[in-house]
Amino acid sequence: MNGAVALLLGGWLAASGAAWAAPVALDRLERISAAGHEYVRVRDWAQANGLTTTWLQAGKAVRVANGAGNVVLTGDSRTAVVNGIGVWLSFPVLMRESQGFVALADLKTALVPLLFPSKGAGRIRLIALDPGHGGKDKGFFHGSQFEKNYTLALAQEVRKQLVLAGQEATLTRSTDAFVELGERPDIAKRRRADLFVSLHFNSAGEAGNEAQGVEVYCATPVGASSTNARGEGANHGPVLGNLYNDRSVLLAWQLQKALVTRLGMEDRGVRRARFQVLCEAAMPAVLIEGGFLSHPAERRRIADASFRRQMAKAVVEGILAYKRTVESGNEAPRKRRPS
Ligand SMILES: [Zn+2]
Repeated sequence: MNGAVALLLGGWLAASGAAWAAPVALDRLERISAAGHEYVRVRDWAQANGLTTTWLQAGKAVRVANGAGNVVLTGDSRTAVVNGIGVWLSFPVLMRESQGFVALADLKTALVPLLFPSKGAGRIRLIALDPGHGGKDKGFFHGSQFEKNYTLALAQEVRKQLVLAGQEATLTRSTDAFVELGERPDIAKRRRADLFVSLHFNSAGEAGNEAQGVEVYCATPVGASSTNARGEGANHGPVLGNLYNDRSVLLAWQLQKALVTRLGMEDRGVRRARFQVLCEAAMPAVLIEGGFLSHPAERRRIADASFRRQMAKAVVEGILAYKRTVESGNEAPRKRRPS
């Protein structure tokens, strides 16, 4: 089977609900070793997948697109923009001699799962919501404003709205109780939850009460360094959460998109971290940092119940968008996307 046939078949499979055959296409691309990692030419990947490439800034930023979506890649940058929403990559995009190069690992763990999501892998029934911190662990606090109280209030609001939308939801804690980090994904697994969504609010270190905006995390891919503030290094073995990477990054992207567009908050991008709850979850799992409690204006909004209702609405919207995408394989095959 040549690349073009594999590609057409892949597109058809994606449309008809079976798994997208992307690895076949990716494995056929020429690999270039750079900075200790395997890269492929952006142009080769685009051509093999029926995507067009357009330079936004010659030799610096390129847009790859088809009728269904687009991604902007910028030289020496670890942030891609996927359909208008920031997504942190594991390795920087490289621009050499008027050509763009993207790490094979980033195609596999971020761009392909987002642009060509696989569909039809069963129903999303129960959502586990995990309010961060609790009990003796206040989380970040400013005076008597404790992160643990806001995460619980938000989780209760999200549950309420999910139930109104006909979705089942469960909380890893429903009171001001201390729950060990390792226990939280276990609770979700015991209750047979299909998704795990941890809720937190952010804080900037020492220097900054200027940082603001939304971040949604999923587990860091094997061999990559994280993109949280503390950003641990790449020297780390595989974790359970890596098994659910493709679903987790799609869920993270849907949530980031809903939060940024509905609330008008700064887009700090879909990020990666080896947070214990994400590493140990036996299901697609994300962690939302819904704004900075260390930022005076964001803290005022987070403390406002009507703002939290809007945020809950965005969280529900993101979850339902994800659900529609992954469950859509059950529908009749749609028109093949242009290639
Ligand atoms: Zn927290």
